[in-house]
Amino acid sequence: MQSLNLDLGERSYSIHIGSNLLSQPSLILPLLTGKQVLIVSNTQVAPLYLEQLSSSLSQAKPDLNVQTCILPDGEAYKTLATLEKIWDKLLNEGFNRKATLIALGGGVVGDMTGFAAACYQRGINFIQIPTTLLSQVDSSVGGKTGVNHPLGKNMLGAFWQPSLVLADTQVLKTLPSRELAAGIAEIIKYGLLGDLVFLEWLENNMAGLIKGDSQLLAEAIARSCQSKADIVAEDEREGGKRALLNLGHTFGHAIETEMGYGQWLHGEAVACGMWLAADLSRRLGWLTLAEVERVEKILLAANLPVKPPEEMTLASFLKHMAVDKKNIDGQLRLILLKQLGQAELVEFNKLPLLEECITDALT
Ligand code: NAD
Ligand code: MG
Repeated sequence: MQSLNLDLGERSYSIHIGSNLLSQPSLILPLLTGKQVLIVSNTQVAPLYLEQLSSSLSQAKPDLNVQTCILPDGEAYKTLATLEKIWDKLLNEGFNRKATLIALGGGVVGDMTGFAAACYQRGINFIQIPTTLLSQVDSSVGGKTGVNHPLGKNMLGAFWQPSLVLADTQVLKTLPSRELAAGIAEIIKYGLLGDLVFLEWLENNMAGLIKGDSQLLAEAIARSCQSKADIVAEDEREGGKRALLNLGHTFGHAIETEMGYGQWLHGEAVACGMWLAADLSRRLGWLTLAEVERVEKILLAANLPVKPPEEMTLASFLKHMAVDKKNIDGQLRLILLKQLGQAELVEFNKLPLLEECITDALT
């Protein structure tokens, strides 16, 4: 098992990465604030892993009151209405301010459970047990929680840090390969935005990663979490550096929004977005053509798309990019690459260059 620490003063926490962590209650018990525990999962993940987790906790500490709440599966249910099910359960069971919520699932379950914890009696303890690769390397770390509004993704939420993150590589065995690749997109992102050595390691190990090699995945998860932890420790509430984590995301959100959520997975849209960001960086003279091809090669090796979907047009890209919530006062802000392994937040004014970049990608 590898352990990292996210240093946020009194809100600091550990991130453990390894195999079979679900059945190691000794990792979880010290972090419980009381005897009441609600495990939140969904209809997909619960039949696979809920029993293992809840019975190991109950056996290790028989006086715990372990309850479960199983949500419907999917981004479409990441809503305020679904959150009410969690709060209903907490209130019906008489859970108090010392209760702990445990999120057992992908990013959707994690974001909702975290937000439920942030709001319940003005904030209770919560633990993240992410079960997708994407949630293990991204959403479970850093304390962004929330739900979607019909008019915008993740528009309602709070910063609320977990007290522990357990990334169990064993659970990735049941993850569909497309979801695995989507997680790898976010892993490649850490290399591109800040760590050329890691990018090279990924290039050398991609074949094993996409086959689901547990040891390689554990290494990639640990290095990704360390990158994210370093950035979040410096900029918890995204006043500056944390925005770099959105490399590829402004383009990616445009694709997700135009296509409707679920057609393209988030990681797939981000992969294409990172390629566009690399190509736009080349047009600014920051990357060479060979470097853009290197970005393309690693994304393709991870079975990720680099070209936007055929349904997209220049107009649809521009429409959705203008409303991306990273933009303040109508100023388009993009994360671009000064070089491979070094991202930068740019106030982007060269619209013709952006239009050329998108148009060429669409043809
Ligand atoms: P997800 O939670 O929808 O999981 C993808 C699918 O895999 C679901 O059907 C899920 O039930 C299933 N699944 C989960 N674990 C499994 C397992 N071990 N075996 C088999 N199937 C499994 O999607 P995701 O990609 O994990 O997360 C996406 C969400 O995360 C989005 O809502 C996004 O907004 C959010 N997110 C949040 C942050 C953040 O900082 N909070 C960062 C990135 C993404
Ligand atoms: Mg992302």
